[in-house]
Order: sequence, then structure tokens, then C-alpha cells
Amino acid sequence: MNYQYWHRKVEIMPRPELEVFQLERLQALVDYALRTSFYAPKLRAAGIKGSDDIKSLDDLKRIPFTTKHDLREGFPYGFLSIPKEEVIRLHASSGTTGAPTTIYFNRDDITRWTGYVARSIYGTGCNHTDVFQNMISYGLFTGGMGFHAGGEEIGMLVIPSGSGNTTRQVRLMQDFGTTVVHATPSFLLHVESIMRAEGVSRDSIKLKRAFAGAEPYSEDTRRRIEELLQIDVYNSYGLSEMNGPGVAFECQCKNGLHLWEDGYIAEIINPDTLEPVPDGETGELVMTILCRETTPILRYRTRDLTGFYTEPCPCGRTHRRLRRITGRSDDMLIVNGVNIFPSQIEEVIMAMKDVGNNYLIEIEKDGVMDKLTVKTEIGPDIFMDDSRPLNALKERIRKTIQASITINPRVELHESGSLPVSEGKAKRVYDKRPR
Ligand code: AMP
Ligand code: ZN
Repeated sequence: MNYQYWHRKVEIMPRPELEVFQLERLQALVDYALRTSFYAPKLRAAGIKGSDDIKSLDDLKRIPFTTKHDLREGFPYGFLSIPKEEVIRLHASSGTTGAPTTIYFNRDDITRWTGYVARSIYGTGCNHTDVFQNMISYGLFTGGMGFHAGGEEIGMLVIPSGSGNTTRQVRLMQDFGTTVVHATPSFLLHVESIMRAEGVSRDSIKLKRAFAGAEPYSEDTRRRIEELLQIDVYNSYGLSEMNGPGVAFECQCKNGLHLWEDGYIAEIINPDTLEPVPDGETGELVMTILCRETTPILRYRTRDLTGFYTEPCPCGRTHRRLRRITGRSDDMLIVNGVNIFPSQIEEVIMAMKDVGNNYLIEIEKDGVMDKLTVKTEIGPDIFMDDSRPLNALKERIRKTIQASITINPRVELHESGSLPVSEGKAKRVYDKRPR
């Protein structure tokens, strides 16, 4: 195979050189972090007063972990290391409207991020002749603007089609001769089923490749999309805390995701003991973003479960490859690409008048997309046989949940005391999606 590299020198850099590069960047990062109100006391308490205290990559271990909870505590500006006036953009984790996990960028941060995305896209065999339709939501979520900028960087024609509106997406593909798309795996399957339902022939589109990510999916799902749409599908991994897309991406070998180690340091830990796992084993991914000046984040517990492949990749890239993410070490759910925590739903419904004490969250497949149902009991003073106030309550619950988590749930009301009560620890989430 003819492999192509966007940043050739860095992508195939011998590992000893790569590690020197990482160390220099880690030292600079520590200085940035010391300027933030969040890290300054934490680093000093760990005996780190400046970059001089970081003598080797091993010293990273002296730095405490950062969690999503910390990011919330630091909201909105506690992680900022430069004056706010020098910041040019912010993004936030998908599914957060109150945006407690907000990340800021200056111009150089955006340039570096764009570089990682461009390198990822180019590594799948794309080039400036491609027409790239970015079928993912634009806005606070990083997947829209992140991929958009990366596509433009390598000179592709980028169509910012955004998410949803499947019929229109197919039409855009036909009209402009789209050759590559980015979407969640479930949306790609949905596109295929709409094409079939509407009698759109495969020959009327020129699609060759897709980047699929934002949610976990199996190797079988990849194969299925590839067969149905007759394209190559590449796994794309990223998270807003680490900029967004372009953290780890599959190359043409499609055998795991190269994690860009000039930009990130990755560790895999046992989520219970917090100790590193032996090479190649599965654990929780912990990440340090090496060169974001505006929002430095060190040793972030991603909660994503994965491990590294230990053998080198035939493409020649020296950056290690992550295995497909198999799940999470917390209770975060990803519904149609949007992150939600059951506690967000609980907060909303428990604050509402006329809602009872018990509730359940159910996630199922509706065709290829996910469907979220919230079942909640009504208060003991409300009667099931009066439908008008019940419908109004249902609508109020639906809207409030949607405003909080950005996805539109189906709401079911149940009589007070009628939902199952578990003995011991309450089981409220029923994820019925096939794995
Ligand atoms: P966000 O911060 O909204 O971009 O969400 C990031 C989270 O989405 C990650 O921590 C993962 O849990 C999930 N995610 C993103 N890409 C993938 C992928 N390719 N496979 C599995 N999960 C993914
Ligand atoms: Zn490779």
C-alpha cells in the first residue's frame, strides 16, 4: 500500500526523539498550568513549582489526576492560563447545555488542533480532490468545526451539512459528488436505510470513505456499514477535554487508532487502583494534552476503557495505536453521539412539581438510531384518569429534559408506586441496545 503522511517527519519520528519532544512540551505545559487558579495550588502541593521540577516523562506521575468533576468546579474560567481577551473560541462536551466542561482556544491552539485533524484525515488516503460532507452537529460540540477545519486544511471541498435531515444529506451527496463523510456510526446506518427506502441507487453517489466516531461501536458494525454502503470506514476518537476530534485515528491499515503522541501523553490505568496496567492490557485512558496554551489539562481521567496494541503498524507511523473503546468506567451514556449522565435527568425530574419519587431510563434501538425513554411516576395527588393535566406534565418533563441534555426523550408517566423498586442499590438505567 502507498501510505501518505501529512506531517511526515512527526508521524514517523523514532520513539526516542518523540519522547524528547514530549518532555519539552510537558515542561512548557506545566508552566502554563501553574498560571491557572485550578492547577497552581495542586502542583505546588505536589512539589512542582516550575518546569525545572519535571526532569523526565516519569515525573508526570507526580501530578494529580484531573476529573470531569474538577472541570465543573473550575467552571467557567478556573482552567484558563491566559487573559480572557486573548481567547478566540470555546467548545463544550456534547450533551452539556450548562457547559460545565468548557474548553478555550487561542489562535495557536486552533492551528495545532486543526493540524491533528488534518493529519488524521490525510492518513486515511484522502486528499484535496475529495468532497467532504461533515454530517455531524456544529456548535458547542467539537466534531463540527474540528473536522471542518481539518478538511479545509488539506484543501478538500468541505460541505458543512451538519447532523440530521437524512434525505437532504443524500441529496447533497448526489448533487456535489461527496466522496467522504463524517458521522456517528448509527447515523451512517440510518443514511443507508433511508437510501434503500427511497430507492436511491448506490451508483448515484460517489462515496468512498467515512469517518465514524463520537460513540462506541463494534467491529461488526464497522463491517456492516462498509458492506452496505461499499465504503471504507475509519474509527475516529476524540473528546472535548482534549480538543475534540483528532486525538486518535485509524490509518489505512484500519487496525487501531494512532494516538498523536506529539500532542498527547496517554496512560492506561486500572480505574480501581489507579495504577498503570501492564503494557497492552485494558484499562482507563488517562490523557494529558501537551500543547494547548489556553486550557491546559493534565492527567485527565477520560473514563474510556481501552488499551494499546503493542506491535508496530505496517504504515510506519511510530505513534502507538489504541484499541477500539469498549465502554466506560463511569455511568455516562452515549445516545446518538450525545453524552448524558443519568444524574442530569434525575436533577431535572426531581426538581419538578407533580413528579413522584421513582423513575427509570431506558435506551433501545429504534431502527438504527437510539431511543431514550424516561419513565417516571407521578405524585400521589395526581390522578391517572384526567388526561389533560397529565399530557401537559408529560410535555413539561420532555421539554425540560431536552433543554438540559439536548436530546428529545420519550416520556411515560406511571401511577405513583407502580414502577419497580430494586432492593439495594437502585437500578434506574436499562440500556437495551445490542452490544
Ligand atoms: P465529547 O467530549 O462530547 O466529544 O465526547 C467524548 C466521548 O465520546 C469520549 O470520551 C468517548 O466516551 C466517546 N467517543 C468519542 N469517539 C469515540 C469512538 N470512536 N469510540 C467510542 N467512543 C467514542
Ligand atoms: Zn498505521
